Amino acid sequence: MPEGPEVESIRLELLQLTARKVKEITLTPLSQKYPKYQGKEDEFSLFRGQELRNIHRFNKFLIWEFEKKPVILNHLGMSGCWTIVDTKEEISTKTTHPKVIIEMSKPPYAIFDDSRNFGQFRIFSSMEAVKLYPPIKKLGIDGLTKEFPLQDFVERIAEQRFQNRQIGDLLMDPRLVAGIGNIYKAEILFEAKIHPERIISTLTQEETILLGKSISKILLKAFHDKGSSFDARYKLPSGEGGQAQRWHMVYQRIDQPCGDCGSLIEKLIQKNRSTYFCPKCQH
Ligand SMILES: [Zn+2]
Repeated sequence: MPEGPEVESIRLELLQLTARKVKEITLTPLSQKYPKYQGKEDEFSLFRGQELRNIHRFNKFLIWEFEKKPVILNHLGMSGCWTIVDTKEEISTKTTHPKVIIEMSKPPYAIFDDSRNFGQFRIFSSMEAVKLYPPIKKLGIDGLTKEFPLQDFVERIAEQRFQNRQIGDLLMDPRLVAGIGNIYKAEILFEAKIHPERIISTLTQEETILLGKSISKILLKAFHDKGSSFDARYKLPSGEGGQAQRWHMVYQRIDQPCGDCGSLIEKLIQKNRSTYFCPKCQH
């Protein structure tokens, strides 16, 4: 699933669509096999002729803002991606499971392509309304903030509700820090030398500060490299892949030697999610 750095990289490329008017938002015949896309034409017709003003990101949500009030909330789900093409012919050659096509007043087209079909679109009456949507309203610190608010992080992680959680599980909870998924959770904990099963209440002040710095360092580094591409599933709207997988130290490296100490990387499962760690470097 794309994490914060991947979604932010996608957003940056999609911004080329702004300051243009929408000609039409259409649903493909394939999309109509799924109830969540049925009857959406009427909702999408609201945006016809409207200029796209901006695309925002909250955690892993993209919010499309237009000249008039309604906004579109879009989540990529497990495998959703956006592809930008200049001609209609390219839609069939450059996408495999196209669901939604946004046609601007002049090319390009932006196509939402989603093989596993967990992506979502919802219309909200305004920016104010979408900010009240619980998964957005409850978000903690955005991990991709350029000046990571370390003091705010130290205060938040000290909240009573987080004290009994294991760090590998808590890092995936966007009420603390938004933008972290399975890949970067493992890399952040390796960077901070903290074992994924450590209970929050046992972290020292020094470890907490190092953890905050590691979150910021890993997420911004991944964003700089446009995210991690392991297979064709994650790609940017231009068709390019990310490069962050090149420096992963632990993620999906089970039984391979740790780059720092040579011990073999191990894997464990927390709340049904796998995590990878070095048994010698992480305590
Ligand atoms: Zn090690």
